[in-house]
Amino acid sequence: MGMETVAPFREIIDAIKASGGDAFKSCYQCGMCDTVCPWNRVRNFSMRKIVREATFGLTDIESEDIWRCTTCGKCPQICPRDVKQIQSGVALRRIATEYGVFPHAVQPIRRVSASLSAEGNPLSEDRAKRADWAKGLPVKRFTDGMEILYSPGCYLSYDPRGKKIARATVEILDKAGVNFGILGTEESCCGESIRKTGNEAVFKQLARQNIRAFVDNGVKKILVSSPHCYHSFKNEYPEFMVHFEVVHISQFIFQLIAEGRLKLTKEYGKRVTYHDPCYLGRHNGVYDEPREALKKVPGLELGEMAESRKNSFCCGGGGGRIWMETPRGERFADLRLGQAVDLGAQVLATSCPYCITNFEDSRLNRKDSDVIEIKDVTEIIREAI
Ligand code: SF4
Repeated sequence: MGMETVAPFREIIDAIKASGGDAFKSCYQCGMCDTVCPWNRVRNFSMRKIVREATFGLTDIESEDIWRCTTCGKCPQICPRDVKQIQSGVALRRIATEYGVFPHAVQPIRRVSASLSAEGNPLSEDRAKRADWAKGLPVKRFTDGMEILYSPGCYLSYDPRGKKIARATVEILDKAGVNFGILGTEESCCGESIRKTGNEAVFKQLARQNIRAFVDNGVKKILVSSPHCYHSFKNEYPEFMVHFEVVHISQFIFQLIAEGRLKLTKEYGKRVTYHDPCYLGRHNGVYDEPREALKKVPGLELGEMAESRKNSFCCGGGGGRIWMETPRGERFADLRLGQAVDLGAQVLATSCPYCITNFEDSRLNRKDSDVIEIKDVTEIIREAI
C-alpha cells in the first residue's frame, strides 16, 4: 500500500465521531468485550485493542482485524461504558472502503458490491431471475389490498438450499389462507450486510430501490425470512422517513397457530435444538416466538444449548463475514454445530439464511451429515401441517 492510502489520524477520529461512535473515548480498557467475543474461541483477537487504537487515531486500515467483527452484538451487551463497538467498527471499514484497501480475505466484497449495485443481489445472479423460485407455486404478484408482502430476500430467492425454505414458507402461507404476494424482480437486497462492510453508498442505493417499490405498490406490512431484512426494514429504513410494519416468519407462524389459522397435526418425533440468529435475538429481542412455534409441533422434543437466547453463539455470518474468507479452524459455525451434536440433538433449527448456509457448510466439514440435520423453523412447521 502506498502512503496515499494510509488514513490520516484526523480522518479516523472524524469518521468515528460521525458514526455516533464517539463513545470509544469512554472505554476504560476493562477487556470485558474480549471475554465474550466469539473470535477468542478460535484465535487471538481484541476488540479492546481496536477501540484503544481508534481512540488515538492509530488504526491500521490494512489490517484484517477491522474486518473480523461479525456485529454479533455480544460486546455492546456487556460493555460497562456503552462503547458503540459496532458503529465505530463500521466507520473504520468505511475509511478502508473509500481507500479501496481490502485484505485478501475481504477481497470478495468487491464482487459482492458490484453485483448488489448492478443486479440487486450479492450472488452475481440476474435480477430477471429473482422470482424463478416461485415458478409452479401458488404465488401472486403483490397488489395493494393484500394482507401482506412476502419478501424472501436474496438467499431464499437464488440459493438452492434457500429456495427450499422459500417453498416451505409458501406452503405454510397457502395452507393458512394468507392473502400474500411478492414483488419479484422489483425486490432488491435489503442492504443490511453491505452497510456493515462500510459501503454506505450501495446500502443507500438498495434501500431507495426497495422503498420506492414498497411505496409504489402500496405495501404496508412486510413478511421476511431473514433477520437481516427484518433488522434493516424495521430499524434502518426509518432513516429515510418511511415506516413499514415488519414481521419475521417465525413470529408470523406463531401468530397463525395462535389464531387457529394453521393447524399442526403431523408427528415430528425428533430432538431439536434452536439456534438464535444474532439479528433476530440479540439485535431485535425475538427469542420466544420461534421456540413457542416449535413447541406446538406434535412429538417434537426441544432442548436448549448452554449458549442460547441473549448468550447465543454467533454463526459467523453477520457484518458481511458471510462473503469473506474464514479458514477452517476459525469458523464459529463448526463450534456451534458441535454444541448441538453434544446436546444429542438430531436437528439444529434456526431461522436465518446466513446461519443455515454456515451450518450446512460445517455439517459437511465436520462429517456430521449422518447425525444431525440443519433445518429452518419454516421447514419443520411445513412437515407438521
Ligand atoms: Fe472498552 Fe467496553 Fe471493551 Fe471494556 S468492554 S474494554 S469499556 S469497549
